Amino acid sequence: MKILYVASELAPFSKTGGLGDVAGSLPAALAALGHEVKVVTPRYGDIQDARLEPTGHSLELRFPYGVERGALLSLRLSPRQEVLFLENEHLYGRHGLYGDAWGEFGDNHRRFAYLSLGALQAAQRLRFFPDIIHLNDWQTGLAAVALRRGFQATPLHEARCVFTIHNLAYQGQYGKHVMEELGLPWELFTAEHGLEFYDAVNFLKGGIQFADALTTVSPTYAKEIQEPEGGFGLDGLLRRRQGVLTGILNGIDADEWNPETDVMLPARFRAEDLRGKAVCRHALLERFGLGADTEAPVFGVVSRLVWQKGVDLLLEALPEALQTGLRFVAVGSGESRFEDGLRALRRQYPRQVGAHIGFDRELSHLVEAGADFFLMPSRYEPCGLNQMFSLRYGTVPVVRATGGLVDTVQGGPDGDGILFESFHPEALLGAIRWALALYGEPSRLADFRRRGMGRDFSWAASARSYERLFASLLMG
Ligand code: ADP
Repeated sequence: MKILYVASELAPFSKTGGLGDVAGSLPAALAALGHEVKVVTPRYGDIQDARLEPTGHSLELRFPYGVERGALLSLRLSPRQEVLFLENEHLYGRHGLYGDAWGEFGDNHRRFAYLSLGALQAAQRLRFFPDIIHLNDWQTGLAAVALRRGFQATPLHEARCVFTIHNLAYQGQYGKHVMEELGLPWELFTAEHGLEFYDAVNFLKGGIQFADALTTVSPTYAKEIQEPEGGFGLDGLLRRRQGVLTGILNGIDADEWNPETDVMLPARFRAEDLRGKAVCRHALLERFGLGADTEAPVFGVVSRLVWQKGVDLLLEALPEALQTGLRFVAVGSGESRFEDGLRALRRQYPRQVGAHIGFDRELSHLVEAGADFFLMPSRYEPCGLNQMFSLRYGTVPVVRATGGLVDTVQGGPDGDGILFESFHPEALLGAIRWALALYGEPSRLADFRRRGMGRDFSWAASARSYERLFASLLMG
């Protein structure tokens, strides 16, 4: 099959969260299955890679607000996988993916209209006629609109269009003046069959309305988004489209996240020999000045510090949990109220709490490897990657039973992790107590670790699920 994959983030070039990881891995896994994949993504200002080559083609998109032009650059990652970077100095040539310290960029609707339509035009320019166009999140929603409603002419309408929702909370909503600015036909400004959402334009809704198939990143999240509680206002539409909606679990990048080969760690380890893990634990405690030789259990967190992740719950539960002597280490950045909360906790418990406010890949590996337990008290979690990294690294995940966490962490006495139901500090504390009890029984803890480390979260299995979906669309 020929697959055009469009995403606003692509690890390792650009990433704010799981979407970047997925875009960095799934296309490669599909190419490994024999498909020809072209990935289209913006060339943000921070992407400076000498390997990027001109294709000799450029894009030109005419919007009522003006004409956008930019070069099309290429990077061949493997014989069957090419990345096409859309260059456009005034739309992308700046620091940041979606915003900066002052908030969201004011022209994101233009920036991602350019990505959506530019991806289709790029395929045309290269005479690449895909069987499948795989779109991701609101930033690409207008591509589905273009394909099915001819908003900007495109000869690619033969292709089947798959739209993946990585996080329903981010929808790309703009005032309705955007309809005219971008030249979206007004007949699409309806709630039932168009892009209208409470008198605003909703790009995500465009993707959900017009794609041939919808996926999200775990089976449980696929159900949750059809309920008012998890639907962020789109549950009704998603219920209407449930016949084409499925959940396919993300994999993890097994090259980056493998404790046996991880070069970012001070030592490597495997299930049969955890001595390297002890070295990592020592290094982690030392790094944060928490008493490297302590026998107290170490709880880790690596997370965007946002409402979704339940940081408030952590901050409420931790003071009591810290009374047991446990160590807590967090790496994250996000909302300042949570960043400040973690800093305050560190000041209050300098011998027990370590916090690094910022994005740090190497440190995230050290936390995954060096901690005994990994906390994810998420309000909701479409898939979540960190719990899978934790399992691979013999770090027992302690997670709230929601979304992809339910589908990846096995609870119970013979499981590999600890789940709690209610979004309440007491429930989190209960789970932490459970973890402490497990920590007190080394042989049971070893069983938990061994089971977790034996799990297969490679992309190959997920890629085969996508392949089956694509094939069914081409037959149907
Ligand atoms: P989300 O996409 O909602 O942020 P995921 O668990 O799916 O959550 O993916 C998060 C990814 O971002 C993981 O690879 C995680 O390790 C990484 N990450 C998040 N915050 C940081 C940070 N401060 N430093 C390093 N990596 C981080």
